[in-house]
Amino acid sequence: MTSLSHKTGVAVLGIYVADLAFRAPGMPGLGQTIAGTGFAMGPGGKGSNQAVAAARVGAPVRFISAIGKDSFGDFALSLWRQETIAPHVRVIEDAPTGAAFIYVNDASGDNAIIVVPGAASQLSTQDVEREHQAIEAASVFVTQLEQPPEAALTGLQIARAAGTTTVFNPAPALDFPPQIYGLCDFITPNEHEAALLTGIEIHTVDDARRAADVLLERGVGCALITLGAQGALLHSRAQSLHLPALCAGTVVETAGAGDAFNGAFAAGLAEGMSAEQAARLATAVAAISVTRAGTAPSMPSRQEALALLQ
Ligand code: ADP
Repeated sequence: MTSLSHKTGVAVLGIYVADLAFRAPGMPGLGQTIAGTGFAMGPGGKGSNQAVAAARVGAPVRFISAIGKDSFGDFALSLWRQETIAPHVRVIEDAPTGAAFIYVNDASGDNAIIVVPGAASQLSTQDVEREHQAIEAASVFVTQLEQPPEAALTGLQIARAAGTTTVFNPAPALDFPPQIYGLCDFITPNEHEAALLTGIEIHTVDDARRAADVLLERGVGCALITLGAQGALLHSRAQSLHLPALCAGTVVETAGAGDAFNGAFAAGLAEGMSAEQAARLATAVAAISVTRAGTAPSMPSRQEALALLQ
């Protein structure tokens, strides 16, 4: 176990996928080929996006994951190098790096997505145990549910044993081992995930408060439920605070708002902010991210976020 005084920064366990976005006037039928109108490739995966958000806010970040030995894997490594994120990544020779096919309908803006986590679907308990020092040395550990839930559980257990603050983002909404609740200093579902976890429909901040109470009863230290344009609710036995969303300009794309929020929240906690201060920083970072296209590329710098908070 590492002594508390030597802990710094954030360790993120999660996945990377290359987002491949195709625009077309319609979806091709089986056996049909149609001409598309646009293509863009960008970095994605909740864990990698959260790592980028935390790094841009200024935290030292370690990212625990798995990729394939291929050009998308090289693309991921160059992203992390550029963002000064330390990769603690297993390279699996016979599996592809994760990728997502995103079809966007030109006329309606609707989308359809196929995600293949590839190598990251093999992230195992042993992979996480091998990287225990990265978790123990961090002030804050963050994970989600895009990799197998057992890997998330192991990471949270290592963090708890080492006195590293834990942030669990239960996304996407999937079943997970119930002992995870008791290992969460913070759980950060969005309103849909919180509704699925608790069975409480969430339309208002009061609904979110009732759902948060259920999560506290299950053993989490604090529930931080994000509510899209309605902001977020920070709710523990000690405090219950609604943080309204901020406006940083015209909203362009809300995909990745939750990742911006989680990464910045973890970075704020890691530098010694209170939960309230870190959630305010996260609100600013997420508000700026929705005014820009893309997920990881839309994450703002620390200066931009602090300027919005003034
Ligand atoms: P997710 O991306 O996981 O669905 P949310 O949509 O709840 O997450 O968004 C996370 C946070 O991003 C919110 O708590 C809020 O602070 C911010 N946010 C989301 N949508 C907007 C918006 N339209 N304007 C400003 N901030 C937003």
